[in-house]
Amino acid sequence: METKNIKAYGTEAKDKPLHSINIKRRELLPHDVELEILYCGICHSDLHSVKNDWSGTTYPIVPGHEIVGRVTKVGGHVTKFKVGELAAIGCIVDSCGKCEYCEDDLEQFCDEDVTWSFNSPDKISGGMTFGGFSESYVCDERYMLHMPEFENLPAAAPLLCAGITVYSPLKHWQAGPGKKVGVLGIGGLGHVAIKIAKAMGAEVIVFTTSPLKVEDAKRLGADEAVLSTNKEQMKKYSRKLHFIIDTVSAKHDVNTYLNLLRHDGSVVLVGLPPEPLEVDAFSVVSGRRSLSGSNIGGIAETQEMLDFCSTHNITAEVEIIKMQEVNKAFERLEKNDVKYRFVIDMTSLKN
Ligand code: NAP
Ligand code: ZN
Repeated sequence: METKNIKAYGTEAKDKPLHSINIKRRELLPHDVELEILYCGICHSDLHSVKNDWSGTTYPIVPGHEIVGRVTKVGGHVTKFKVGELAAIGCIVDSCGKCEYCEDDLEQFCDEDVTWSFNSPDKISGGMTFGGFSESYVCDERYMLHMPEFENLPAAAPLLCAGITVYSPLKHWQAGPGKKVGVLGIGGLGHVAIKIAKAMGAEVIVFTTSPLKVEDAKRLGADEAVLSTNKEQMKKYSRKLHFIIDTVSAKHDVNTYLNLLRHDGSVVLVGLPPEPLEVDAFSVVSGRRSLSGSNIGGIAETQEMLDFCSTHNITAEVEIIKMQEVNKAFERLEKNDVKYRFVIDMTSLKN
């Protein structure tokens, strides 16, 4: 397979800082599109993966899966993209395309395993995929997204993972008028969840461990914000919520939140703490409640989410950094010191 060398940022070990490295991208196959990367968001999953929190990281790793860029080349059979237009790549860059899940636009559950945009075995090259902390990306047009109009393009990059990860369960569990939706954790995912749930018409109540975010949650659109360490405030919400989207990245007590649900309600995990969570049987048995989960969304739903966010003028609140500042950004993300998403200006990689 013909390849070309490009610049990227990655690391060979979990305790080694990210640094400039060279990687190979394949030359275009007939259905491939090449994207020059303009912006790439930093998701907590990038940090978990670099630190090998979930095991299974293959080094060297190049993270990045909230990728926005400009089409620079298209293969001979490409019909959906033209050179010069803006486009995007999220978490999925390949799947079998023919199992029942792929046929139902649920590629994230593909029977033959999805190829993720980074740290994933790549069936085409035979190696591992390298993510968006790089100059360019090549993938089949089927997994590439069209970018609708956004006033602030870098602030739209986080929608490619944070946006779809919360949009999909909010839609599935029918956030809308008459529903009280809880958002647990106001980080990259949580702050976008507030905006999307409000745009869907739900009443949004936020639960945060950070006192400074209580006020800010209202600015972001939440109807109410609760400091989750305050037992008195928490009691007010006992058995009040229809469902809760849980974006917390570390071990925490889910029973506290299961007990805030009305009957038949669900706490939907999207956060991926490395350690198992403990469930008290009484938390789910009483009220016929459930603990469930959701994993990003399929390609068609990701496009639908981008169009929804463009229509409703929803983007992330971002701090834009240079590629060379990524290690500092990872340290701050680990300390929960970001409002609310870092986005890398990828043109800085050329410096
Ligand atoms: P993030 O920006 O770091 O936000 C996580 C939030 O969780 C923090 O802002 C904080 O909110 C809260 N938190 C952190 N540590 C906590 C603790 N010890 N106890 C209680 N609350 C704590 O991360 P993110 O990028 O939004 O990602 C969140 C999680 O979702 C990660 O585990 C990530 O891997 C996962 N993820 C899953 C999917 C999926 O498809 N399922 C997709 C993307 C990401 P407060 O300050 O408000 O308390
Ligand atoms: Zn992510």
